[in-house]
Amino acid sequence: MNYQESFSKLIKENDMIILGKLNMDEFAMGSSNKTSFFGPCLNPWNNSLVSGGSSGGSAVSVSQRICPITLGSDTGGSIRQPSAFCGTVGLKPTYGLVSRFGLTAFSSSLDQIGPITRNVKENAYMLNIISKKDENDLTSVGSSEDYTRLIGEDIYGMKVVVPNFYVSDLIDKEILDKFYTIIDLLKSKGVTVDFKDIPYLNYSVPLYQIIALGEASSNLARFDGIKYGYSASNSLNADDHFYNTRSASFGEEVKRRIMVGSFLLSGSNVQIYYNKALKLRNKIKMEFDNLFKDYDLVLGPSSTCLPYSVDETSNDPNKAFLDDILVIPVNLAGLPGMSLPIGFSSTNLPIGMQIIANKFDEKTIYKFASYIEKELSLNLNPRGDENE
Ligand code: GLN
Repeated sequence: MNYQESFSKLIKENDMIILGKLNMDEFAMGSSNKTSFFGPCLNPWNNSLVSGGSSGGSAVSVSQRICPITLGSDTGGSIRQPSAFCGTVGLKPTYGLVSRFGLTAFSSSLDQIGPITRNVKENAYMLNIISKKDENDLTSVGSSEDYTRLIGEDIYGMKVVVPNFYVSDLIDKEILDKFYTIIDLLKSKGVTVDFKDIPYLNYSVPLYQIIALGEASSNLARFDGIKYGYSASNSLNADDHFYNTRSASFGEEVKRRIMVGSFLLSGSNVQIYYNKALKLRNKIKMEFDNLFKDYDLVLGPSSTCLPYSVDETSNDPNKAFLDDILVIPVNLAGLPGMSLPIGFSSTNLPIGMQIIANKFDEKTIYKFASYIEKELSLNLNPRGDENE
């Protein structure tokens, strides 16, 4: 039996419904899953809508109960945003907590692997497993923490902060309303909630574009069709071979990013763009460091918008980047962040809240998230017949 046949058998035996294919955006670039070579991966809650990206296939597999746990990669929100769109729990761990060995690098200083699950506890179990030291990744720190340790504890007395930027009028009104109901809940449970202006967060998207695209152009240079990756046949000479290979093997979005990234790293542009972006990135890190002197967690919505139509055509590639404005700062600062489902829109689409902690403080995210999960007790199965 080939892979496709055994997959179909599994689906049939378990009475599962697959809405579209379980693909992911090409080279992890995208927020909709429409940039996949294999076509879009649709949203289980409404199959005319996108599942989010780039790890949309991972979120959809869990949301449709095809498997309990998947992994995603998060360079600028690709675990948290599809989790918000599909109603799953997605964690982007602290940079360095999970080995990136085996991951196709997109932007090496931002990429992290993390778990996507149906609930908080299973997410913590998975992090226990994948957070071990790996000699093959020099940034792998290695942890012996039990991330389920604080699950079940009370949240009374905790202090959280919401950056004003995270509740601006850029955010969909229904998402904001739902987020505020959680803020009210937290206050009623004895949690201190403050709202604060945090400088530099509004630069996150341009900084991300410079850093991520620059690093991507460098990382994807290895796909030359000789040592690595797809290789075009019938080329006349070496230049022709690189040209044919790279023209055929990258989609439009990836090519655009390689070209912009190569420009940003060419000659003196490194000083003008990349090095300057790193300095500002450091300022964002310092802003978060300061916040964690006074607060346990930073909160905000996970996405500016609800899942949108898969047919929606936009000629503006910048729009997708702007939609990621709430998730990107976490990658820039190397922090852990989770998207937790907090309810549904009037059109029955999941809404996610982002819970951000200090470096290597994932256990506090799990404690807090499991408390809210229990209070809300949502049915997150799109088929509505969950008995877990
Ligand atoms: N949507 C973002 C992008 O396209 C994030 C991608 C990611 O996290 N892999 O760059």
